[in-house]
Amino acid sequence: MKDLLIFERSVPGHRGYALPVYDGPKKKLVEMVPQELLRERGADLPEVSEVDVVRHYTRLSQLNFSVDTHFYPLGSCTMKYNPKVNDQMASLAGFANLHPYQPASTTQGMLQLLAELEQMLCAITGMDAFTLQPAAGAHGELTGLLLVRAYHTQRGNPRKKVIVPDSAHGTNPSSARMAGYEVVTIPSAANGEVDFEAFRAALDDQVAAVMLTNPSTHGIFETRILDIARLAHEKGALLYYDGANLNALLGLARPGDMGFDVVHLNPHKTFSTPHGGGGPGAGPVGVKGALAPYLPAPRIVKHVNAGAANAPRPAHHEPAFALDYDRPLSIGRMRTFYGNVGILVRAHTYIRAHGAEGLRRVSRGAIINANYVKAKLRDLYDDPFPQPCMHEVVLSARRQKKQGAGARDIAKRLLDFGFHAPTVYFPLTVPEALMIEPTETESQRTLDRFIAVMRQIAEEIERDAAMLRRAPFTMPVKRVDEVKAARDLDVNYGKRNA
Ligand SMILES: *Cc1c(COP(=O)(O)O)cnc(C)c1O
Repeated sequence: MKDLLIFERSVPGHRGYALPVYDGPKKKLVEMVPQELLRERGADLPEVSEVDVVRHYTRLSQLNFSVDTHFYPLGSCTMKYNPKVNDQMASLAGFANLHPYQPASTTQGMLQLLAELEQMLCAITGMDAFTLQPAAGAHGELTGLLLVRAYHTQRGNPRKKVIVPDSAHGTNPSSARMAGYEVVTIPSAANGEVDFEAFRAALDDQVAAVMLTNPSTHGIFETRILDIARLAHEKGALLYYDGANLNALLGLARPGDMGFDVVHLNPHKTFSTPHGGGGPGAGPVGVKGALAPYLPAPRIVKHVNAGAANAPRPAHHEPAFALDYDRPLSIGRMRTFYGNVGILVRAHTYIRAHGAEGLRRVSRGAIINANYVKAKLRDLYDDPFPQPCMHEVVLSARRQKKQGAGARDIAKRLLDFGFHAPTVYFPLTVPEALMIEPTETESQRTLDRFIAVMRQIAEEIERDAAMLRRAPFTMPVKRVDEVKAARDLDVNYGKRNA
């Protein structure tokens, strides 16, 4: 069936609704809207009935891949299944209908939830204080680096450089630049870890921070992290933790114990919030005590005189939680109000639903699943880092590329079998990279099916690479110029070709 554009469904005179005929006094449009703001002719909009609109967009939504419909092993993104109870909690009227300008005395439940979340994130990461303000991981990076700058500035010299490994996510060097730092890139060693000697050589007293992802985007744990932290601290530099890969460490190891001074987390990855469609995320930032004075204002504080939560309320009851704006050393606000609180309610629900032991099982499951995929595919796909991986595995389609079809072609062919593609061509350090993150929420049956398809695709490439270069075959859209398709959206396509 041909998919019509909404413009092609347009029939002059079709309407989504009808209002009763208005028989009151009438005014000309120009009496109400200044002439220069009026259109010269009607807007070029499709004319369709409500049922046409609902069917059109519902159908389009089903052409998409999503975590609720497909296995989605997009590495570094932690596209795990999001339990629906998280959404239910975030939709409770007492949370969803709050207005950010309400006085704190009427938002005590939300403030308590946010304060508890800060405490839980401290416990999970080994940090001393958290801000929930930043709106995404990348925004958390900028926040964290501004905290680093404030810390060094207060000590007399903001310093000039930030060290970033070549395997880092692109947002790391970008955030460092935005915070006014020069980026020093250090290479990875053959085993996928930071090249320790290159790191040591790059370190001097102008380095403000070392930004690391651990496990790195190679899916490999930095076994020399304690040495790295010691050397960085000896030079007065701070250690920044990109927490996008925290799904590997919940309840197993804590960045704070490894020596990290600042961390950002991605609740929309680790703590199971729907993401990937450009919707809201969050980027809580945790710090060690020495950086706490610089955290964004306002801070959520608990009044000491409030008494226990279940104590009888005193007659002139003070609210237990308040917002403290009096933070003279704060870097200021990073976002309006208190962050994307809907995402934070979901994270709180997820953490409370799992508990400490449940979170540990999350990370163990994620690690086992990634190693299972690795073990079952490493004979057909190159495995650049042979040691066990953490929660994601980076393979290389180098061999297949020589036969005529590479990582992009494999990604496209997977769609024909109902699998979203893994991350491809990232990390930049691995040629023809296939970065597979199965996550803990997938069953062995799903992984076995994925493994069987990946093996079949490797055989298809051996037999007929040219065929693979034309995949996908069953999707509503075949090969497109990805950059042009995303940047040069042509909504008049249907009309012009009518
Ligand atoms: C996703 C990701 C980021 C950026 O986080 P956003 O929430 O997408 O802004 C940073 N680093 C790594 C390793 C990531 O995977």
